[in-house]
Amino acid sequence: MAGLPVQIGQQYEAEIIGISHDGEGVGRVNGFTLFVAGALPGERALVRVGHLKKQYGYATLVELIEKSADRIAPDCVIYDECGGCQLQHLSYEAQLRVKRQQVVDNLVRIGKLAVAGEPTLGASPSSSFSEGIVVHPTLGMNDPWRYRNKAQVPFGEERGGLIGGFYAQGSHRIIDMEECLIQHEANDEVVARVKEIGSRLGIRAYSEETGTGLLRHVVVKVGFRTGEVMVVLVTNGTEIPRADEWIAGIREALPAVKSICHNINVRQTNVIFGDETRTLWGSEVIYDYIGEVKFAISARSFFQVNPVQTEVLYGKALEYAALTGGETVVDAYCGIGTISLFLAQRAGQVYGVEIVEEAISDARKNAELNGMTNVHFEAGPAEVVLPEWTRQGVRPDVIVVDPPRKGCDPALLATILELRPRRVVYVSCSASTLARDLRVLVDGGYGVAEVTPVDMFPWTVHVESVILMVRK
Ligand code: SAH
Repeated sequence: MAGLPVQIGQQYEAEIIGISHDGEGVGRVNGFTLFVAGALPGERALVRVGHLKKQYGYATLVELIEKSADRIAPDCVIYDECGGCQLQHLSYEAQLRVKRQQVVDNLVRIGKLAVAGEPTLGASPSSSFSEGIVVHPTLGMNDPWRYRNKAQVPFGEERGGLIGGFYAQGSHRIIDMEECLIQHEANDEVVARVKEIGSRLGIRAYSEETGTGLLRHVVVKVGFRTGEVMVVLVTNGTEIPRADEWIAGIREALPAVKSICHNINVRQTNVIFGDETRTLWGSEVIYDYIGEVKFAISARSFFQVNPVQTEVLYGKALEYAALTGGETVVDAYCGIGTISLFLAQRAGQVYGVEIVEEAISDARKNAELNGMTNVHFEAGPAEVVLPEWTRQGVRPDVIVVDPPRKGCDPALLATILELRPRRVVYVSCSASTLARDLRVLVDGGYGVAEVTPVDMFPWTVHVESVILMVRK
């Protein structure tokens, strides 16, 4: 492109000054921004420009000239091919710092909020503390490996045998995998055994290109606290040939398996599950705990994938809610009721709302499972249900929101500002929409008391945080 300080195909020395939300190094060449995968802040690198836009471009790393002290060798042998993790070349300590900084940068740039210890960008007073919002260090894991409780593994064939692993980055080519270092060991073990048994029984894998073959995905779930394992075979077709031999093989090799399910998905889609699930053997659900609360996990139900850090995240939310036993609490975007039930242990009455009907039915079952009677769940959009509750006279002391990446619906924020609860606890998985929403609440009369980032997904770029807002 004419007029730009760099050209496609040319090599330049770039100074890496930051890290993008995708985990790429943010490089500068003659004042122009280039995203460089694999480069880290503080490094200098020879890069080759691959792709240009008006304001920025993408370059590949040719050679590191100066290395960051935070650079480490990835532990995983398939790190580059897989793409599931983006930060294995960065030390864990540094990852936690980077994640905190991403939250800070979003609050300052998008929220125009003043953060303690940070230069302000024309920020207006945003906090009840004149020094600005306190953003705590990221709460990380003592052992940041093997944290996932769920594996969803696509199956294919190679030289007549079954393979199962992951899609090569940016493609749908399946690469066989023996272990994934962020998965619980039980999940790796189950996948390996299922591969063996399937191959022995002559099961064919589904092919996306031809739409033929049977086995599409193997989904494995493990309860960290209970040790219970569920195996779900997702097939293209309603029958599994030699199902009894599958079951016997799995039970013999894997005594921790409590549930073997069959999900049928005959559609040509990359959505993993189809609509119909049958229990082939054992229980329909497995159980796990977050803190003292017990949850039933079915083949399809959503459950947080890092149970250890979920307890840390919800513990922070509970702390910020500052419940004394009599409060009315609303949990908007409640999923299967995980946060609601966690809060119900200390609240007077909890109201949970969630748009997915199935999740609400799980939430109700989970309340029953724990003998909790002070929770009420309703299916529907939070921005519609909360005003209905308001009309019915519900007056929350605390509102907790845990929205999807796109953040809170503006109508929900408006209702919160009308209801004026003493505290709002915001659990966020997207720092940019968080910053946008906090701005609205600050303008509406709330002060951001504090922010705690929590690392739910070590070695990946995802950042979660919990925010306490207090009515002024
Ligand atoms: N708090 C839960 C789930 C949070 S994920 C947990 O920790 O497990 C966000 C949830 O918001 C999803 O379950 C999604 O289905 C739900 N959701 C999305 N849009 C919504 C809306 N407009 N109203 C209510 N829930 C919504």
